[in-house]
Amino acid sequence: MQISQVFERDGLPVSFEIFPPKGELPVEAAHALAAELSMLDPAFVSVTYSAGGSGNSERTIDVARMAKDDFDLAMMAHLTCMGATKNDVHQVLAAMRAAGIENVLALRGDSVEGVSTADFHFAKDLIPVAREAGFCVGAAAYPEGHIECLDFDESIRHLRQKQDAGAQFFVTQLFFDNACALRFLDAALNAGVTVPITFGIMPFLSKAQISRMVFMCGASLPSPIIKLLARYENDPASLRAAGIEYACEQLEGLAAEGVDGLHIYTMNQPAIAAAAMEALRASGAVV
Ligand code: FAD
Repeated sequence: MQISQVFERDGLPVSFEIFPPKGELPVEAAHALAAELSMLDPAFVSVTYSAGGSGNSERTIDVARMAKDDFDLAMMAHLTCMGATKNDVHQVLAAMRAAGIENVLALRGDSVEGVSTADFHFAKDLIPVAREAGFCVGAAAYPEGHIECLDFDESIRHLRQKQDAGAQFFVTQLFFDNACALRFLDAALNAGVTVPITFGIMPFLSKAQISRMVFMCGASLPSPIIKLLARYENDPASLRAAGIEYACEQLEGLAAEGVDGLHIYTMNQPAIAAAAMEALRASGAVV
C-alpha cells in the first residue's frame, strides 16, 4: 500500500518507526516485535537504514519484507544516499521493489567520517530517482531546523525543495516542545508546503538518551523535562514512566491541533507504541 493514500483516509494516521536488529542478531529477531506492533493497527511502519551508502540495505529490506508478508503491515524502507553512487541506489531500489516494498523515506543520511557524497548531495537529489523507480516517496522534516542549518528560514526553503523534487509527505524529526512544531507547521504552510506532514515523537527514557538525542539533532529541551530529569535523577523506572507520559501528552496535544499524522519512534519497544496508542484512544484522537 502506498503511504500517500494513508493520509487521504478518515481518521488520524499513527505510524511507528523500528530499526533492524543490531549486530549479529538474525532478522527473525524482529518477528516478535512486528507481531506486537501489528496488534496495534498502525497506519504504516518504517524501518531505518544504516548510514554510509549501500552498506547495510539488506537488513532494512528483510525486516520490511517480513513485516509486510507475515503481518500485512504497510511498510516504508528508509534509504540514505550519502556516499552512494547512482548505481548503488538503483540496485537498492531494485531489491526493495523485488521485496514488494512500495514506500521509501528518501534521506541524505548523516555525515560519516571518510564518506563523502558521490552522485547525491542532498535528499532532494534522491527523491526524483526513487519516484522514477515507482515508489511512493517521503522525506525528512525538521521542526527546529536541521542541525547543520543555522537559519530556520533556509531550512524551510530546503523542505520546500524536497516537495518540489517529488516528496509526497514528510516525517519530522523528534522534538520535545509542541510549540516549536506548530511554529514550524505555520512556516511550512506559508512556504507552500502542501503535502502531509506527520510528526515524530520519541519519549525520553533516561538522561543519557535524551542528552544524546539533543546533541545529535539540536532539539530544544523544555524546562518541564529538565525538572523531571532532576526529580527522578536516582529513580530510572519513574523517569522512564514520566518520559512515556510526557510523549503521550505531546501526541494528544498534536492530535488536538489537527495535524496530518503522528509517527512514534518506538526504539523497538512495543510497550512505547502500546502506551502511545492507548493514550490516543483514551483521548478519542484515534478510534
Ligand atoms: P537533506 O534534506 O539533504 O538536508 C541535509 C542538510 O543539507 C540540511 O542541513 C539541509 O538544510 C541542507 N540542504 C538541503 N538542501 C540544500 C541545498 N539545496 N543547498 C544547501 N544546503 C541544503 N539517518 C540514517 O542514516 N538512517 C535513517 O534511517 C534515518 N531516518 C531518519 C528518519 C527521519 C524521520 C529523520 C527526520 C531523519 C532520519 N535520519 C536517518 C537522519 C538523516 O539522515 C539526517 O538528519 C541527515 O543529516 C539529513 O538527512 P536529510 O534527508 O534531511 O537531508
